[in-house]
Amino acid sequence: MDKQKQDLISQQDRGAVLHPFTQLKDFASGKAGDPTIIETAKGITITDATGREYIDGFAGLYCMNVGYGRTEVAEAISKQAHKLAYYHTYAAHTTEELARLSDRLVKMAPGKMSKVFYGMSGSDANETQAKLVWYYNNLRGKPNKKKIIARERGYHGCSVVSGSMTGMSFYHDHMDLPIAGILRTGAPHYYWGAEPGETELEFSARRARELEELILREGPDTIGAFIAEPVLGTGGITPPPEGYWAAVQPVLKKYDILLIADEVITGFGRTGAMFGCDKYGIEPDLITVAKGLTSAYAPLSASIVGEKVYKVMEEGADRVGAFSHGYTYSGHPIGVAAANAVLDIVEGENIPAHVDKVGQYFQKSMQETFSSLPIVGEVRGVGMMAAIEFVADPATKKRFDPALKVGARISKAARDRNLIARAMPHGEILGFAPPLVTTEQEVDRIISIAHEAVLSVLDELKV
Ligand SMILES: *Cc1c(COP(=O)(O)O)cnc(C)c1O
Repeated sequence: MDKQKQDLISQQDRGAVLHPFTQLKDFASGKAGDPTIIETAKGITITDATGREYIDGFAGLYCMNVGYGRTEVAEAISKQAHKLAYYHTYAAHTTEELARLSDRLVKMAPGKMSKVFYGMSGSDANETQAKLVWYYNNLRGKPNKKKIIARERGYHGCSVVSGSMTGMSFYHDHMDLPIAGILRTGAPHYYWGAEPGETELEFSARRARELEELILREGPDTIGAFIAEPVLGTGGITPPPEGYWAAVQPVLKKYDILLIADEVITGFGRTGAMFGCDKYGIEPDLITVAKGLTSAYAPLSASIVGEKVYKVMEEGADRVGAFSHGYTYSGHPIGVAAANAVLDIVEGENIPAHVDKVGQYFQKSMQETFSSLPIVGEVRGVGMMAAIEFVADPATKKRFDPALKVGARISKAARDRNLIARAMPHGEILGFAPPLVTTEQEVDRIISIAHEAVLSVLDELKV
């Protein structure tokens, strides 16, 4: 793209786009530089308007799972757009692709699932989950059983309820969140959370005990649900400590509390199993999926409703009438066509098995390359998601002065070397979540660039 056109785009963008997670003043004034204009992408590589190529080590935002530029998905979208771009799904209207997608999701999903409700984003799908929890308990004659427990460092979206479930304060500050009725329990992160001498199993048992204490303090009859990601995502890409899910689930069962599994990142293969629930032996009552559902080829999310909840909804129908919740775009044909084409790839190419294999290679190389560096506290991950946590002193877990911005500098050093790896909030963390189709050779390339980036910042820190 010629320079003149780039300048025009920058000028229009600066004048009119309100960008998420962008320092508004520095961007508006030009101090933060021009926007990056992404123009094309193929496989795991994105190309900007200057022709510069980057390896996308984060799959967009952990979503471009089957890789960029899959013509079979583009064609499915095009075919659907020509045939029927839109019709709504209210009052029992449907399309061939919607019925097919829903049937396959119910069959694929872990636990005893019954029905699928569609939205456009992970945030709105979690918003739906909260309403389902409230609806379910109202229909059961338990109008007080409504509070939802979420975890520190959990990420569930940024709309009003989902943003309140999110356990990161910068999503709340200055925006009047969280709303009432959302409770918080401890993060499942052994590295930072464990007490001296505590084993992983003991730590997990303590987290379960703390959860039970919270439930008893609030009153079990006031708690409707617990929401959690099988693997903590935006809170730092943290797999659960040993025994965590085995310890937590009996507590929820004991007090008749629904489990919402937020599989927005982990769904459709990222951990090396089809769902994070399969990987960790989780039996959810409600499941949220988005990102990987369409590999981001079109916006679509789903709230998958388990039999236990659905039965109560159906039984209540004669009393309360129609289920009064739905979006104009619920089950939008374009998103649904994209999802079916993507799931054809996920199943046809057995993406979870590929991730299981390449993921083990990825995790091993990450450990070998980074874990003994003098500024690395922890290297962690599962499947095709991993993170490096940087600390000033690994022996004492002394944190870096945040003013040094170590994580952001390493992420920038990687970017300067044409690799996208994400500086994550809540610590000096470099996150990786490459497309699931990444090969071992591409893993080598990602790790070798990241290694150079870490060493360059390590050098700067010494002077
Ligand atoms: C990204 C994400 C969401 C929110 O999805 P949006 O489409 O950005 O609204 C919810 N839960 C998890 C675990 C996520 O990673």
